[in-house]
Amino acid sequence: MLVTLVQQADVDRVEGALRGLGLWTQRVHGPEGPPAILVEPSSQHVELDRITTISGVAQVMTLRSPHPKVDALAHRTVVVAGRELGPHVAPLLFAGPCSVESPEQIRAAAQMAARAGAALLRGGAFKPRTSPYAFQGHGREALGWMREAADAHGLGIVTEVMSEHDVGAVAEVADMLQIGSRNMQNFALLAAAGATGRPVLLKRGMAARVNEWLQAGEHLLAAGASHVVFCERGIVGFDPQTRNLLDLGAVALLRHVYGQTVIVDPSHAAGRRDLVLPLSRAALAAGASGLLVEAHPTPETAKSDGPQALTAAELAELGGALDVPTPRRLAS
Ligand code: PEP
Ligand code: MN
Repeated sequence: MLVTLVQQADVDRVEGALRGLGLWTQRVHGPEGPPAILVEPSSQHVELDRITTISGVAQVMTLRSPHPKVDALAHRTVVVAGRELGPHVAPLLFAGPCSVESPEQIRAAAQMAARAGAALLRGGAFKPRTSPYAFQGHGREALGWMREAADAHGLGIVTEVMSEHDVGAVAEVADMLQIGSRNMQNFALLAAAGATGRPVLLKRGMAARVNEWLQAGEHLLAAGASHVVFCERGIVGFDPQTRNLLDLGAVALLRHVYGQTVIVDPSHAAGRRDLVLPLSRAALAAGASGLLVEAHPTPETAKSDGPQALTAAELAELGGALDVPTPRRLAS
């Protein structure tokens, strides 16, 4: 909403009055036109006449949202691999290793995930690594290993696509495409991923504002994605004791103000396995509709992110503690 004012001298007073109503405001400095104040769309709802009657206010204009297709998803449920995921249904667990390392490893991981009540198997065939000398993933070959392992346990698949060239191959096996934090604003990749028509898990860039995240989602939907699920995985903080700073305020904002489906990756946020369960609980309390958790049959041998990977027992404990509902939870 844009509130225009009669004169510049009223700006402080009117902004104070708007904030007094609980609205979030930003001053707009245009080279021409009347003085104006922007009321952020994520502000709470206030009746229009409470604004128009503030003295000094000339006009109130409703602006078009920069992400209308995302807005249209509000309160909607998406079905992924036969499971409902959304802001008004029970939360889902997505679990698996950071990287798909071998057919045996991903088979064991799928078994762990299924036993813990997971709906989807996670795991990277294509790995975005800081160093070019670190393990980059087994690529397309690993997609087949992953599909076989997931099918053996009735799981769906979410896996990252890093390049437009691989979008087709990933879309062939994955129930949901994952766009990683480092690629949140890779617009060519977003267009290619969206064009598959699949639901997409969009991780928040590690230094991205919520507004940029929502508009990245708009890119996916504008290109044809059937749904966007937002994933908070921690933003850059200043304290290395946790790998990233889990922004649960953004989770609450997306869920409770924007009505979006948002899930949380506590593993990349914490960087250490002992914090994954408490952060998962906090995420669900904040409004997360699901959790994306790293787990490995032998974390000590993991080719990437071993310190944050849960063991089979820890993953089962997490599934039990959160009581993630799944029709496919195994008896033992
Ligand atoms: C991942 O989930 O495999 C991953 C690489 O995470 P992020 O993009 O959040 O760093
Ligand atoms: Mn990882």
